[in-house]
Amino acid sequence: MSSSAYSIGIISLGCAKNLVDTEHMCGRLREEGYRFTSDIADADILLVNTCAFIEDARRESIDTILEAAAIKKTGACRFLVVTGCLTQRYAADLPAALPEVDAFLGLDQIDDIADVLNTWRDNMTASKNRYVIRSPSKRLFEPPPQREVLTGGPFAYIKIAEGCNHRCAFCAIPAIRGRARSRSISNIRAEVEQLLSDGIREINLISQDTTAYGRDRDDDANLAGLLRELGRIGGDFWIRLLYGFPSLISDTLLETMAGTEQVCNYLDVPIQHSHPEMLRRMGRAGTIIPVNRLAQRTRKFMPDITLRTTCLVGHPGETDAAFEHLRRFMDSVTFDHVGVFVYSPEDGTRSARATPTVPAAVAHARRDQLMREQQQRVIQQNEKLTGQSDRIMVHSLVSKTKSDCYVGRSRRQAPQVDGVTYIEPTTETLVPGEIVDVRYQSAQGYDLLAELS
Ligand code: SF4
Repeated sequence: MSSSAYSIGIISLGCAKNLVDTEHMCGRLREEGYRFTSDIADADILLVNTCAFIEDARRESIDTILEAAAIKKTGACRFLVVTGCLTQRYAADLPAALPEVDAFLGLDQIDDIADVLNTWRDNMTASKNRYVIRSPSKRLFEPPPQREVLTGGPFAYIKIAEGCNHRCAFCAIPAIRGRARSRSISNIRAEVEQLLSDGIREINLISQDTTAYGRDRDDDANLAGLLRELGRIGGDFWIRLLYGFPSLISDTLLETMAGTEQVCNYLDVPIQHSHPEMLRRMGRAGTIIPVNRLAQRTRKFMPDITLRTTCLVGHPGETDAAFEHLRRFMDSVTFDHVGVFVYSPEDGTRSARATPTVPAAVAHARRDQLMREQQQRVIQQNEKLTGQSDRIMVHSLVSKTKSDCYVGRSRRQAPQVDGVTYIEPTTETLVPGEIVDVRYQSAQGYDLLAELS
């Protein structure tokens, strides 16, 4: 039977970098003629792309695989394939632990997905132990000619590099995703041009550490150079930088961001903590000064810059005083967007052997307190925007309590992690990707309400 006779249901877990891997596999499968269904229970084949960087993510991955396996017992599914970081990290244990799974693919085998399904299609045989999965991963993939975008909006993620050369004491990602390896500027430009020709209007540049882009290459590639090259494409589209590293934000990068029209004055820079002793314990001593100078330096080049960050609370050695230092620091900087993770001891990391540990209840209380205080700051900031003008990239029409309205985002709002902007009901028909002028009417928690102007 031909591939088109089979429908595939996709479940993509974890971060945007993992979503790009899912999109890569979908591109390969579409090339082979397979079709996709959003109705998981009706799919002949289920593909679960997993995440495994912390305990909560692992649990979600396992639960999702077991749900897919249950569908295999009751639904249309006849073939279950599992990919991603869980497979990469626990390759040796999974086949025995999850006998319901027909095939496991590691991060270096995402190009083999069609081969796995074709083998099953032609022989109805599983490929359980067919691929030797060695950690960490080493390969760097270029997207398939026909680039799939699974974001559901006029935006896409572009993975400009894979892996990470930092050695943060709490982090298992380098052991999963390997050393940093960057794609070429010309390949990235070609991918951006193709996406723009497909109607995408926002390009989110991502990797484990986007600011380390090009440092592993022996040509002059670097992030500022990449931004200038993408700016030369011209036209009205947005470029956003996600996952920066505090000590790798150069003046040249900030100047280039400020001077390139398409680049949003937006930086996502996980600081993890502010207290010098905590940053030392986290293996991030080199970021103590950059973290403390981050807001002042970036706002010198872009006074209206939007800063997003991520903190880690409950790391071994985090005293009440260290947490208070972080609280005061967050209050003094007033980041626009903040995510807070609770420390998860990861096998094979230095922090997993560190003491004194912080009780889970204390760590969760610290996370909740930081998020509560941040929410107050966001509401105040959003209220200050009332009456101001801005440009919103339209995503879609959504039904709200009283009537349908459009939803979109400003250059201040990154996809899937920051708030959104609702545009008051209008008689005008707006299209996804269109960038419209608005005036903010009011703040609604993390979101904003605006009217066309
Ligand atoms: S920068 Fe640190 S936290 Fe981020 S992926 Fe690399 S090692 Fe992990």
